[in-house]
Amino acid sequence: MTKKYYELTPDERLASLNLKQETMTAFQENRTPQHAQIIENYISDFRVPMGMLHDIIVNGQHVSVPMAIEEPSVIAAANNGAKMINSVGGVKAMLPKRTAMIGQMMFVDMPITVLDDFVLSHQNELLAIAQRAKPTIYQRGGGLLSVTTRQVSPTEVSVDFIIDTQDAMGANIVNTILEAEISAFSKFETHLIGVILSNHALEQIVTVKVNMTFDSVGGHDVAQKIVALNHFAKNDPYRATTENKGLFNGIGAVVLATGNDWRAVEASGHAYASRDGQYRALASWTIQEDQLIGELSMPISVGTVGGAISAMPQAKNVLNIMKITSADELRTIILATGLAQNLAALKAIASGGIQRGHMRMQYRVLALQVGATMSEVPILVAKLNQLKQVDTTIASKLLSEIRK
Ligand code: NDP
Repeated sequence: MTKKYYELTPDERLASLNLKQETMTAFQENRTPQHAQIIENYISDFRVPMGMLHDIIVNGQHVSVPMAIEEPSVIAAANNGAKMINSVGGVKAMLPKRTAMIGQMMFVDMPITVLDDFVLSHQNELLAIAQRAKPTIYQRGGGLLSVTTRQVSPTEVSVDFIIDTQDAMGANIVNTILEAEISAFSKFETHLIGVILSNHALEQIVTVKVNMTFDSVGGHDVAQKIVALNHFAKNDPYRATTENKGLFNGIGAVVLATGNDWRAVEASGHAYASRDGQYRALASWTIQEDQLIGELSMPISVGTVGGAISAMPQAKNVLNIMKITSADELRTIILATGLAQNLAALKAIASGGIQRGHMRMQYRVLALQVGATMSEVPILVAKLNQLKQVDTTIASKLLSEIRK
């Protein structure tokens, strides 16, 4: 009997693609045994470069932060932003009293009052069901905190379950509890259309703040331009999208390096950026008296256990480097990195544009693109650095000259 595709071994899947032997070998040499257990139809790992944000001070603690990202100059900029931030004592991070996930039970064609009464009169039963469904999260100090109703449209109501998932991101924990809770709502069965966690993580909003001196960013004029640029991004979705993309260069790189779900973090961040109906900059820069104040508040839904984190050796090693002890601590470091990234980008734009610094970092990639070997890369980059204008043709020509 022929095997189904999902039953094939990684090598059998590769063999079915009729690859050149060297491509096949490259995939084979790039595997982590645990990874074949994490996703389906595994063939190989996809490597992303990882570098260090060498030092950022968060709540008085020096932290070294691994960042996984393919884009040149992001890590250099993060270090630059962190250096400015560290010069004024670092970032202050504030957490809510308790971070929690939200799970949704979605009803249609039902008055909210009926669900409201039901939820209020069945609080104990709903709590008991959650405890039976996921006893271990209660042993760890978490569990169902509250249940509320929310009118979504004239015909749609969401029953929201607020669940403390401790150090796990919690998607599976929330879904397990929600699916168990369905039994309590059996009399409304025909109106219930589904249950699932929400990634609109409003119970996980963390704030990081920094008070910069004007000198620390290069003077009063630069500080004013940073504020003006940020103000523009609060009003203009075109600019806001780009400013937030830069912020997520930092956030996403740490989320990825720690084995967390970057789609969840991005989705909740962008939803929060649109919370008043218009997409706006997530970070905020203002001048108050003689200081430039930077602040970033946003939901950050991550864990230090669970999901793929505990199964991916790399993620565990990264968390060890950061000496992280809890998901809340990780949240603060991720946002601090985002704020440092944001500051570096705004400062670069305010002081004449990002392209000069960015392109220099890009030259190494350009050298590889035109076929330079590892030993040729630094020689070619040094030559490119001397030119005012650089493109692929010029780089190829220079490479040929080097090889003569
Ligand atoms: P898991 O269920 O894998 O991990 C949580 C488990 O980790 C807990 O149930 C607990 O196991 C164990 N654990 C150990 N120590 C702790 C601790 N200190 N605090 C809390 N739990 C601990 O994953 P999550 O529930 O975190 O779900 C995350 C995964 O779900 C991610 O891979 C995500 O990509 C995925 N996902 C995301 C969705 C979304 O965002 N929309 C949808 C569906 C899935 P035990 O009970 O044995 O003690």
